[in-house]
Order: sequence, then C-alpha cells, then structure tokens
Amino acid sequence: MNSTDPTQSFILDSIPFVPDLPALQTRLRIREGSRHVAELARLAAEAETVARPKALYKLAFIEAKAEDAVVIEGVRFTSRVLRVNLDVAHRVFAYIITCGRELDDWAQAFDDIVHRFWADAIKEMALRTAIQALTQHLNDCYSLGRTAMMSPGSLADWPIQEQRPLFTLLGDPEAAIGVALTDSFLMIPNKSVSGIRFPTEESFESCQLCPRETCPGRRAPYDSTLFERKYAS
Ligand code: SF4
Repeated sequence: MNSTDPTQSFILDSIPFVPDLPALQTRLRIREGSRHVAELARLAAEAETVARPKALYKLAFIEAKAEDAVVIEGVRFTSRVLRVNLDVAHRVFAYIITCGRELDDWAQAFDDIVHRFWADAIKEMALRTAIQALTQHLNDCYSLGRTAMMSPGSLADWPIQEQRPLFTLLGDPEAAIGVALTDSFLMIPNKSVSGIRFPTEESFESCQLCPRETCPGRRAPYDSTLFERKYAS
C-alpha cells in the first residue's frame, strides 16, 4: 500500500488477479469441449501476466452539512440522498477502483470483435477482484461495521457530474492509478468504479431509489415511497 502525498490517499496496486476460467466460460456461454475453450484459456493466461488492477482510496472527514449537500475536506458534494445518508456519519471512504490501464491497453489491441468481447469480460473480472480487495482491506484496517456505498451517476439526485469533486477529493487519480475522467465524466479505463463508502445503521442501496426496469445489476428492489418517506426535504 502506497501513500500519494500530499493528498494522503492510499493506493492498492499489488492485487493478485488469476482469471477464473470456468466462471468466464459461463459468463461468455462457452460450453466445455467447445473449440473456443483453449483460445479463451490462452487469453486468460495472457491477461494474468499483464493485469495490474488497482484501487485508490482516502479516509476523509465531513466538515459541514447543508440541506442538500455535504462538504468533505473542503470539497462540496451536492445530493440530498447522500446528505441524509451521512446524517450520523463523521467520516467516509472515497474510492476509485479499476481493472488497470495495463489490461485496458492489452484489450484495446484486439481487432477481432469476439476477442474484444472476451477481453472485456476479463477486464470486468479484474475489476471485481480489485473491488473485493479494497473491501477486505478497509474491513481489516478500519474495523468497519455496517456500511453502504453511493456512486456519482447512480441516481438523478447525485448525477454523473459529481465525479469531478470526487476526483478532486482523491487528489490526482490519473497519476496515482491511471484513471482519467472524460469531459462527459466517464472514467477511462471503462472498467472502473468510483464512490463513497460510509458507516450506516440502516442498509442502503441506490437501487432502492432507482425505478429502472430490467437492470441486470439490480441489488435491491425499487421502493417507490422511500424517497418521499426518508429523503424529501
Ligand atoms: S437498478 Fe441498476 S441502474 Fe439502478 S441503481 Fe441499481 S444498478 Fe444502478
């Protein structure tokens, strides 16, 4: 773990990544015995030598709370939902997690559309590995109790533009772990996630406030009255 002075963010960049071939086959619907298995195994082995998934995080303290905003170490975040969720919190963990530039560059080099699709699935798997590594690290180092997470762009209340203050809070994520923010606030590499993890006494998932139907990533059912009950000001 390295510190990126002077922002006091921390980097995890020695995260072991061994692609899970059976899980990849299932994800890509490649049956055992198929002629594609050996080729996928070759790509996975290549990816294992290249990949350097990473995470950048910062333990940051809340300085002020307004009606629909919080100020964390001089950086203002505007979201009523975030503000209410941080009601009893004094500190948060801001983070960016990525599959890493190395794997992203490797994946970009494929011309073949099928190989690109497979490489994307491997990148996704590397990202999941890094997410688990950071979760474990924070739990081990900070003895966290119940926590929840929010990501800019997951709700209309906390739009994607709020990536900018999150990146500011974390210092220089591009220099630290190679994650850049585009003018439209998307992250490069695309297999990167960002957010704020905070202590909470009640479980919370942004999906509870998201009415989107048929979302494959849904983690909790939509609660159509939750916003009115808990977050309306
Ligand atoms: S339901 Fe899907 S789009 Fe909505 S917050 Fe959850 S994961 Fe995101």
